[in-house]
Amino acid sequence: MQVVRERDALVIGAGFSGLYMLLCLRDRLGLDAEVLEMAGGVGGTWYWNRYPGARCDSESYSYCYGFSPELLAQWEWSERYPGQAEILRYLDHVADRFDLRRSISFDTKVVAAEYDAAANKWLVRTAGGDAVRCTWLITAVGCLSSANVPDLPGLEGFAGQWFHTGLWPQEGVDFSGKRVGQIGTGSTGIQSVPVIAEQAGHLTVFQRTANFSIPARNAPLTPAFKQHVKDHAGAIRALMVSTPNGHPFAINPRRVFDVDAAERERIFEEGWARGGLQFRAAFHDLLVDQAANDEAASFIKRKIRAVVADPATAALLADIDHPFAAKRPPIDSDYFEAFNRDNVRLVDVRADPIAAVTPGGVRLASGREFALDIIVFATGFDAMTGPLLRMDIRGRDGLALKDAWAAGPETYLGLQVAGFPNLFTMTGPGSPSVLCNMPVAIEQHAEWIADCIAHVRARGLRTVEATVEAAEAWGRQVAAAAAATLLPKATHSWYLGANVPGKPRVFMPYAGGMARYREHCAEVAAAGYDGFALGG
Ligand code: NAP
Repeated sequence: MQVVRERDALVIGAGFSGLYMLLCLRDRLGLDAEVLEMAGGVGGTWYWNRYPGARCDSESYSYCYGFSPELLAQWEWSERYPGQAEILRYLDHVADRFDLRRSISFDTKVVAAEYDAAANKWLVRTAGGDAVRCTWLITAVGCLSSANVPDLPGLEGFAGQWFHTGLWPQEGVDFSGKRVGQIGTGSTGIQSVPVIAEQAGHLTVFQRTANFSIPARNAPLTPAFKQHVKDHAGAIRALMVSTPNGHPFAINPRRVFDVDAAERERIFEEGWARGGLQFRAAFHDLLVDQAANDEAASFIKRKIRAVVADPATAALLADIDHPFAAKRPPIDSDYFEAFNRDNVRLVDVRADPIAAVTPGGVRLASGREFALDIIVFATGFDAMTGPLLRMDIRGRDGLALKDAWAAGPETYLGLQVAGFPNLFTMTGPGSPSVLCNMPVAIEQHAEWIADCIAHVRARGLRTVEATVEAAEAWGRQVAAAAAATLLPKATHSWYLGANVPGKPRVFMPYAGGMARYREHCAEVAAAGYDGFALGG
C-alpha cells in the first residue's frame, strides 16, 4: 500500500453534505481538504437514485442550501417537488459555482480508514489500493446509500433483468411491452409504480406491508410563487430552522381532539388538498397520541377506498398495520390510482411471501408463480449505519466500528463515536438527519464540525473525541426522544433497523426535533465542547 498524499482533511462523499463540508473546510478554514467520491459525479443520493418517478418530498425551494444568499436568489426550481434530474443539475451547479470539483477525486471508493494514534492521523484506503493520510476525517456518506437487496434464492439464475432503485442504470431501463414485477411499497416504490405502469406491458406490485401515502400535488411553480420565495427568503429560512422537521411550513398548534369531528374533518381535508408532508402538519399531536393518530389514519384509509375501484385491492392497500407517519410517510402522484389500470395488479406477499426467484419470474411460498421480464427491487437500504459499516473503520487500538456498534450505533450528537478521534459522521445515527429536511440538517452539521475543528486548531490542540460518558448519555436521550413518540410502534421500519436481517433494533435518528437539537449542539459548543475531550 502506497501513501499517495497527505491532506489536512478528507471528506468521504460528494452529495449535499460532502460538497458543503468541503466548502467549509477549504474555503472558510483554509485547510488542505479533499473529497473522495465513489461515483463518477457529484450528487450522492441523487446520482444513484435515477429510478422512474424519483423526486424529493421536500418542497423544492426548501430543499437546497441556505448558506449563500446569492445562490438562493439566483437558482430557480421549476416544480413544487424537485425531480432527481433537477436536483442533480442543482448540485452540479453548486460544484461549479464554488469551484469544488478541483478538490474532489471521483471514482474513488473508500474501503477502510484506520486511526494511527502515534501520528494522530487517519490512514484512508481506497478500492484502487491507494492510501491518503489526513488529520480530520469526515464521513458524508448519506443515510440511505447502502442498497438492500433481499437475499432471495434463485436471483442469480433469473433470465430477465433486475435492478435496485438505489443503483439505477444511468441510461435508464426500457419497460415497454415488458412484464415487470416490483417488490416494495415504501416511498420509492410508491413513486415508481405509476410511472412504470404507464411504460410497461404489465406491472405486478408485490406488497408486504401496506403503506400510507399522501397526494404530493406536484405542479410547476408559478412566476408569482417564485417571486414570493425570493422576496421572503429570509423569513422562509427563519421558519425552516424553527420547525422540528426543517420544513418551510408551521405545524398547526391545535390537537386533534381540541376540535369537534366536523372541524377535524375539515382540517384533514384542507391538509389533504395542500398535499405532501403538509398533511402531517394538520395537528401537532399526530405523532404522540395514538387516538389522534388513529383519526388521521382512518381519514387516509377512507381516501384509499374511495380511489381504488376494486374492493379487494382497496382493502389490501388500506390494511395498514402501523400508525400514520411512524414510518416515513410517502407522498405520491397517482399511486393508488395506478391500481385502477388494467395492466397493474397487487399481490399480497405478507400472506404468501416470496419464496424464490425462478429463471422465469417469482414464486411465492404457496407455489403461485409470476412470469416476469424485469424485477424492480424497491426494497430500501441498510439505513444510517450501513454506509459507515461497509467501510472498515478502525479507531484507537484498532477498535472496529462494527464492534463498537455491535449492539447498535452509539454516538455523541450523531457527530462522533467515542474511541474514534477526529472522525466526524455527518447526519450520523443519533442526529435528526432523516427526520428533518436533509439540507437543513446537513448545513447545521457542516458548520458545527467546521467550527469545532477551528476551535481545536485555534487553541493549538490536535484532537477532539467524544467521551464514553457523553455518548452513553446522548444514547439515552435519543432513546427517550423516540419513546416519547409513536415512531417505534412501526416495529418493522428502517428507522429501527428492522428491515435488515440481523441488524440490532435501535431507533437510530434523534426524534427530539431539529430546532431543539440545533440549540443543544450550540450549547455544547458554547460550553467549550462539553462532552468532547480536546487533546494536545
Ligand atoms: P423502504 O421504505 O425501506 O421500503 C422498502 C419496501 O420494500 C417496503 O415496502 C418493504 O416491506 C419492502 N421489502 C423489503 N424486502 C422485502 C422482501 N424480501 N419481500 C417483500 N417486500 C420487501 O425503502 P424506500 O422506499 O427505498 O425508502 C427508504 C427511504 O428513502 C424513505 O423512507 C425516505 O426516507 C427516502 N426516500 C425519500 C423519497 C422522497 O423524498 N420522496 C423517495 C424515496 C425514498 P416491509 O415494509 O414489509 O419491510
